[in-house]
Order: sequence, then C-alpha cells, then structure tokens
Amino acid sequence: MLLENALQTENQRLRDQLQTLLAEARLNEQKMHRFDQLERCLIRTRSLAELIQILLCDFKTAFDHDAVTLLLIDPEYEIARILEEEKGGDAKMAGLVLLESSFVLTNLYGDNLRPFLGAFDAGRHSAILDSSSCGCVSVAFLPLLSQGELIGSLNIGSRKVERFATGSGTDFLERLAAIFAICLENALNHERLKLMGLTDPLTGVNNRRYFESRCLEEITHAQRHGLPLACMFLDVDKFKRINDTFGHQAGDEVLRNVAKLIKVQLRAGDVMARYGGEEFVVLLPQAAIPPACDIAERIRATMSSYSFQSLSGESIQVTISIGVSMLIADSAERDVSTLAEKFVGSADEALHQAKRDGRNRVVCKVD
Ligand code: GH3
Ligand code: MG
Ligand code: MG
Repeated sequence: MLLENALQTENQRLRDQLQTLLAEARLNEQKMHRFDQLERCLIRTRSLAELIQILLCDFKTAFDHDAVTLLLIDPEYEIARILEEEKGGDAKMAGLVLLESSFVLTNLYGDNLRPFLGAFDAGRHSAILDSSSCGCVSVAFLPLLSQGELIGSLNIGSRKVERFATGSGTDFLERLAAIFAICLENALNHERLKLMGLTDPLTGVNNRRYFESRCLEEITHAQRHGLPLACMFLDVDKFKRINDTFGHQAGDEVLRNVAKLIKVQLRAGDVMARYGGEEFVVLLPQAAIPPACDIAERIRATMSSYSFQSLSGESIQVTISIGVSMLIADSAERDVSTLAEKFVGSADEALHQAKRDGRNRVVCKVD
C-alpha cells in the first residue's frame, strides 16, 4: 500500500513535470514563431527608418517588453542624414539615440562584447536606458556588431526582476541582434549606393541626375503654392586655359573650390549640382529675380577676388559667368518636363549672353 502510494505520487510528479515541459515547449514554439515573423519583416525592409521602427515598436509589442531602446554609433551623422531624408526633415524617433562616439558603449561592454542580462543599475545604466519612464528593474543589453566592430546596442527593460535574470539564455535575443545588425548594414549600404549615384565624385555636390529629378519637384511645388523659383547656370570662364597652363590636376582642384565657393553663398533649401565639366546649376526656391541676381552677383564677385592656387603654389585667377532665369508663374504650359526644359534653357541662354558680353558677369532673364 505504501509502495503503491509512493508510486502514485511519483507518477503524479512525473506527469506534472511533463505538463510543465510541454507548456514550456509550446511557449518556446510560439516565441520562435514570433521571432521568425519579426526576422522576416527585418529582412524584407530596405528603409532604415522602417527597420528601426520594427525593432522599437513591433518587437516591443510582440514580446510585451516594457521598454526597448536602440543606441547607434553615428560619428559622421550619416544615419541622422539618411533618417532626415527618409522622414522629411526629422531624424528623431522615440527610443532611438544616435551617439557621436562609441564611448558609452565601450564602457558598458568592455572588450568581450557579450550581452548583459541582470538587474538595472541606475549608476551604470541610465545612459543606456532611461528607467525613470518605464520603471524597469531588469535589463538585457545586446551589442550590435558589424564585422566584429561595435556599431550600437539593442536595449530591453522589464518591470519584472526575473525577466532578465543574470545567467538566463540569450540565444533568441543574440540571434535577433545579429540579424538586425546585418539588416542595418544592408540598409546603410543601400543608401550609400543611392547617394553615390546622385553625387559628383570630384566635387561632392549633387550630379545632373539628381538635379533633373529635384527640378521637377521644385517646379511642381512652386506652381502649387504660387511661389517664385529661380534657376542659375554657372560656367567657369576660359577653364580650358587653366587646364592647359597649370595642368589637369590643378584644374580639378579649382573645380572643387569653385563648388565650395558657390555652396557657401546658398541657403539650406537651395539645390546645387554639377551639371557637367565646369558647369554648375542652382535652383533657388522662393527667390524672386532681384534676390536671385544679388546672390549670383555675390558668387561672381567672390570668385573673381578669390586666389586659387596651383600645385606649385602659383596664384590662379578664376572668373565665372552666370545666367539667371525665373519660372514663369502663370504659364499655360501644364507639362512639368516641358516647363523645366524652358526654365533651365532660359538660364542657359542668359549664361551664353553673359559669355558674349565679355564673361565675368551676371545676366538675368525675366520673360
Ligand atoms: P568659356 O569661357 O567659353 O566657358 O571657355 P572654357 O574654356 O571654359 O570652355 P570649354 O567648353 O572650351 O572648355 C571646358 C574645359 O573644361 C574643357 C575640359 O577639358 C575641361 N573640363 C571638363 N571637366 C573637367 C574636369 O573634371 N576636370 C578638369 N580638370 N577639367 C575639366
Ligand atoms: Mg567654361
Ligand atoms: Mg562649359
């Protein structure tokens, strides 16, 4: 009888144990399924903002986390610029912190670059996760690595002490962090390639392709809001002679400096591009003809008084001719491409006039 009881108790214990294991297995299966779905979303997206959003929102909701933050090292403000571009002028996202240096994270992870799970320590962790807003008492900090280098940190906080206990398994989280880091690098490379296709490698300013697409956008915007839009065509005078006298390399350096001198005279919303060779083009949104001509005159004057240098230190005098045109506000032409052709063509005609009139001058065309 005694033996029978003992066997029954043992049986019950084993049955309970089995139930617990099965429940755990079911939970793990569900968890794996959610991770799998999340990973698929991460892999599918090409947009950097979307990628970050998936982690900060979808991941937080799907796994019922109390807090999720993302710290990314961004010393060149590259991520900030891409996010600004994607989101139309605002790089801020709740939960995302862009760091100018890796200091905070190297301090946290040291050399071993392993995840940290354990109790929240206000002294050591408040730069990583702001616990005052979520009341988190346990945290998981996961280093994000690209080719062995620390690029950021994914941080999760919980109001439950046991959620991220020291020594708990981190396989799922580590896998997620690894996949996210790869997707992040991918999205950044995608953006870098896009940028390379739109930038002139010699001067670093936008290229003609970029200009042509922006020109259509700016015309549409100006027309819709009844705003003025000016176009400036700029061509370095007798540039061939500079190349012939000082060499092609000195010519390249002059072009780089010409681009810089034009750029510093412009406002943030102006669009500047190298149109080809020694020709540049600028769009001045919301500039009526008098201010546009004033800006052109300032650029011309700066250029003619600037002393460029050859490789051997000789001084090179450079002048520039500029043609300015205005978008016809009440044009009957509805086709934006045709309007753009006329608008840019008119600035080009004004430039040719400036060349015919003797160079180193600005010609403004109002018609
Ligand atoms: P103009 O006053 O009539 O504009 O005379 P120009 O000599 O500036 O005009 P032209 O079109 O005859 O010559 C332009 C020169 O610009 C010829 C070309 O070799 C040079 N050029 C074009 N692209 C580059 C470049 O990327 N680097 C260098 N160094 N020279 C370039
Ligand atoms: Mg020229
Ligand atoms: Mg030219």
